This record gives sequence, C-alpha cells and structure tokens, in this order.
Amino acid sequence: MTEEVEVVVVGGGQAGVAMSEHLGSAGIPHIVLERGRIAEKWRTGRWDSLVANGPAWHDRFPGLEFDIDPDGFPSKEQVADYFAAYAEKISAPIRCGVEVTRVRKRAGAPGFRVETSDGSIDARFVVVATGPFQRPVFPAIIPETGMVAQLHSSSYRNPEQLAPGGVLVVGAGSSGVQIASELRASGRQVYLSVGPHERPPRRYRGRDFVWWLGVLGKWDAVTPPRGAEHVTIAVSGANGGHTIDFRDLEAQGIHLLGRTIGFEDGRVRFASDLRESIAAGDASLLSLLEEADAYVSDNGLDLPEEPEAHRLGAAPAGASKSAHELDFAGAEVKSVVWATGYTTDYTWLQVDVLDQNGRPRHQRGVSVEPGLYFLGLPWLSRRGSSFIWGVWHDAKYIADQIAIQRGYFAYGEGRMVDAFEGDAVLAEVRER
Ligand SMILES: Cc1cc2nc3c(=O)[nH]c(=O)nc-3n(C[C@H](O)[C@H](O)[C@H](O)COP(=O)(O)OP(=O)(O)OC[C@H]3O[C@@H](n4cnc5c(N)ncnc54)[C@H](O)[C@@H]3O)c2cc1C
Repeated sequence: MTEEVEVVVVGGGQAGVAMSEHLGSAGIPHIVLERGRIAEKWRTGRWDSLVANGPAWHDRFPGLEFDIDPDGFPSKEQVADYFAAYAEKISAPIRCGVEVTRVRKRAGAPGFRVETSDGSIDARFVVVATGPFQRPVFPAIIPETGMVAQLHSSSYRNPEQLAPGGVLVVGAGSSGVQIASELRASGRQVYLSVGPHERPPRRYRGRDFVWWLGVLGKWDAVTPPRGAEHVTIAVSGANGGHTIDFRDLEAQGIHLLGRTIGFEDGRVRFASDLRESIAAGDASLLSLLEEADAYVSDNGLDLPEEPEAHRLGAAPAGASKSAHELDFAGAEVKSVVWATGYTTDYTWLQVDVLDQNGRPRHQRGVSVEPGLYFLGLPWLSRRGSSFIWGVWHDAKYIADQIAIQRGYFAYGEGRMVDAFEGDAVLAEVRER
C-alpha cells in the first residue's frame, strides 16, 4: 500500500519545523520525515560544550522565546529542546525514526514517489530540508599512517576524547577557533591553521553583532559577492560570548599557522599567508565598526562610543615567523581536528535537479523540477538562509509557492484554492 500525502518534508531540523509551521498555517496537508529525532544534529552532531553563536533573543523563530536570559547563548541541547517544543506547540506532523531512502518523479503522474524505511508515500510536493551540513569534508592532505588520529569537527566531542598530546586544528571559522580554545584551556599544545575568515565584533557600542548585521541589512544581503560563500565567519557565544581575536588566541598559547597545504616526512606544510588572513579578518572587523558608526550618526542614536574597539594592536607574532612547517613527532602532536566544513548528500534524491557539482539548481529554493523545493541551504535566498531566523522566512516563501501551485492543480480538478490569501482556503465552486 502506498500512502498519499500532499507534501512530504524530508528532514526534521529547524528547516523542517519551520516548513511545517508555514504549511500548517496555510492549511496544507503534509508530513515531515526525520530519520532521527527533531533537531538531531543539534543533539548528536556537535561537540559537548557548543552553545549557539547568536544570542537567545535573536537565534530563534518568531512566536517562541528561549527560556533563558535573552542576551545569553543557549546550549546545543537547549537549542534542540527549543525546536522540539516549537514542533509540539504547532502540533507539527513529524514522524521521527523514518529515513527517506529514495525520491523519484512518478512516471506519467504528478508528483513524486518517496521511499522510506517505513514504506512508500506518493506526494505532490517534496521539500528537501536535510540541512546544509550533511557530510563532513576535509582535504586528503595527511595520509592515514597511524602517526596521528584525524577527525572532523563533526566527530569532535571534548578534549578527553583525544589521545594525550598536542593537537593541530585546521580551520579558523567558528568551529575551529572554539575547538582550539577549548583544547588549549584543557592544557594541550594547540596549533591552529588559519585561512581566510571574517570576524565581526561580538558586541559594539552596546549591541551584539547580530543586531548590527540586522540593522545594516547584511543578513538580508541577497546576492553574494563572488566567493562570499566560502569566507567563514569566526564568532563565539562560549563563556558568555566574546570577539574572536587571533591575538588573544596566541596570548592563550595557541600557535598560529597559515593554511594547511601539504605533508611530507612527518611534517605538515602551511602557506605563508597567515599575515594576510589576519589582516583581511581585521579589515572585516574595522569596516563593520565604521558602518556601525555611520549608522549611529545617521540615525542620531544614543549608543556609547567605543574608540578602543578600533585599536587592534600589532599582528600576532606567528604572522611574522618564517617557519611554515610542523613536525608531528618533534612537537608531539597526536591528533588533527579538521574544522573544514561540510557538503550536502543527495544520494537518495533521484530527480534531475542537481548540477554537475551536485548542487541543487533552484531559485530561492524553487527547484528546476516543478513540485520539488530546497530549504535551509546557505544563501538560498539571502545571507541568513541557513541560520535559525533566516530559514523561517524562506520556509514561508516556499509554503506560498506550494499554495500557488495547489491553486493551479485545483482549478484543473474543478475546485479552487485561494492561494493568495495566505491560508489557502479551499473554496468548492461549481463547474462553469
Ligand atoms: C557547529 C555549528 C554551530 C551552529 N550554530 C548556529 C547558531 O548558533 N545559530 C544559527 O542560526 N545557526 C547555527 N548553525 C547553522 C544551522 O543553524 C545549523 O546547521 C542547523 O542545524 C541547520 O538546520 P537544518 O534543519 O537546515 O539542518 P539539520 O539540522 O542538519 O537538519 C536536517 C535533518 O534532516 C535529517 N535527515 C537528513 N537526511 C535524511 C533522510 N534521508 N531522511 C530523513 N531525515 C533526514 C537529519 O537527521 C537532520 O535532523 C550552526 C551550524 C554548525 C555546524
């Protein structure tokens, strides 16, 4: 028996919950299929001490607040609990423990056949909400010789998990800098390989950077400048939140290095680009401060001046070192943590919607295959798209698109669905 459902949403993370919210309020029948638990990635795909990178007042959906200080940073468990509570509040029809194993276009019929670990479903519409960070990626630079243990940041949990000895952390986005800092605080020798990054101030003139990016319209930036997808942001909500400054990390005793580029005879080689990466990160910070100052003065806001935030001091000493190698044996480095990002995994999606690089072909989440949608991807429609507050708005747009399509289908079936009132009221009409 094949079940029939109007919309199947694949994935019950924040994107799937947001999608359910908007489909539900538009009166569109749907189910959400989640192979684990609601917001599983927040529970089991992150390290133990992780807290949200944005404050509780901001990194949330409208309509439900976190049960903590709004300026505080919820733990990963609190974030997962928040989405579970949200799903309960809206009575989201989420089926947990059901994995989608294949989606393909139905032959000679509208919609899709969705095969799952719990049977088949025919759906007119499918929303792919399986997350932007499915498969860890790291370059195959260091061979698996047993000399060091290598793991991706998605498998890192805590310092005790690693064999005694020094650690090389590769990647200076939010994950890399937070993991390096935690490892150093646990007493280890830590080497941090730093690539291009941006580093906004945690707070400036009394406001968190998420506020500044909001009022300056940066979360809503729709067209990424060339390469913008690849510039990682280094921020942290750890210990109440602080600005990431590589000078501070060096002062903690972390050895800073350039990009990791090669390995030979037990030695890792690094590009001599640390100075350049630090300078570009500093420039990103200073330019945001300047934009913030201009906004304050243009709008006559009464926010305390913070001239000291503009004074960054000398570049970290590591930036002027001439040695760009790390001898694993000599430095007693026993582990490498690759904080180098993720890619998607659409092996189960057997519909012709991916380009030659395996990336979805879509416009604001509306794929090139009618009836199939993507949600939660970085820059899906704007900079905020893969973040908690951004996905909510993209989900609303996709629910609208589905409502519009239902209107066309219904017309052909002698009914009318008013897609334009937002709640897709079903209006039975007589045949003309
Ligand atoms: C370390 C880290 C920290 C972050 N911190 C923040 C932050 O502070 N604030 C913020 O706004 N964003 C943050 N993000 C970004 C983003 O909010 C998260 O990555 C978030 O988990 C993305 O939600 P999602 O629903 O799109 O994807 P996911 O959370 O990955 O959810 C996708 C779901 O789909 C399920 N799934 C996958 N394949 C299938 C299948 N075939 N069948 C059924 N189910 C399937 C998975 O089990 C998963 O539960 C962070 C990301 C990382 C990696």
